[in-house]
Amino acid sequence: MRNKLVAGNWKMNGSLESIRELIKGIQAGMDAVGSAGVIVCPPAIYMAEVSSLISGSKIQLGAQNVCDQDSGAYTGETAGSMLKEFSCKYVIVGHSERRSLYGESDEQVAARFAAARRNGLTPILCVGELLEERENGTTEEVVGRQLDAVIDLEGIGAFADAVIAYEPVWAIGTGKTASPEQAQEVHKFIREKIAALDATIAENIVIQYGGSVKGSNAVELFGMPDIDGGLIGGAALQADDFLAICKAAG
Ligand code: PEP
Repeated sequence: MRNKLVAGNWKMNGSLESIRELIKGIQAGMDAVGSAGVIVCPPAIYMAEVSSLISGSKIQLGAQNVCDQDSGAYTGETAGSMLKEFSCKYVIVGHSERRSLYGESDEQVAARFAAARRNGLTPILCVGELLEERENGTTEEVVGRQLDAVIDLEGIGAFADAVIAYEPVWAIGTGKTASPEQAQEVHKFIREKIAALDATIAENIVIQYGGSVKGSNAVELFGMPDIDGGLIGGAALQADDFLAICKAAG
């Protein structure tokens, strides 16, 4: 039985004051959240602050990206070992904004996934198709290629300690959610692709859905057999909205 996992990706939002308020608000409602795991992914600059604010609580810490290298002349990047120093447990890799705005290729994303694992972090690997790719019927080809880049580099065994987030790019930040059936279809494809290589890993791996998840659609989405929680953008910035989604996960 897979435990559901909800991660809030704050992206480049907030201030020291607002993140303190946000964490306070989430903490105030955590008792009403059941067994679902809850992760917050603040901007890297706020990692230390959030780490100390959530210390001793059920909220876990994630980062929004990690460098593929472990140290050295990589201006602007953050090493996995640095994230670990602040009790960070998870790291998002291959978010569509990193792929489209910063040109991260499938191979670069795979290298970041490898760096996360090498440093004892659990990668949350984002995969998903563009609107035109959905419309021309290549969703599975695109998602399959994004997964293969990681499988080729790290082997299927690497997914024993990883999370996958299926995020159709056309649903991110647009208010357009994939229907539960549309999302389930791709989640099933991902799980079956992994099962063809390792049935146990496929059964156990958490596959989150991301793309305009709200309190109002979370119950239906999370009720699908292969959807194990969500990666949340906009709705993770308000404590009540985020908590409603966490509660929907269990
Ligand atoms: C995201 O950026 O990963 C995301 C799912 O954003 P939103 O929930 O705002 O669509």
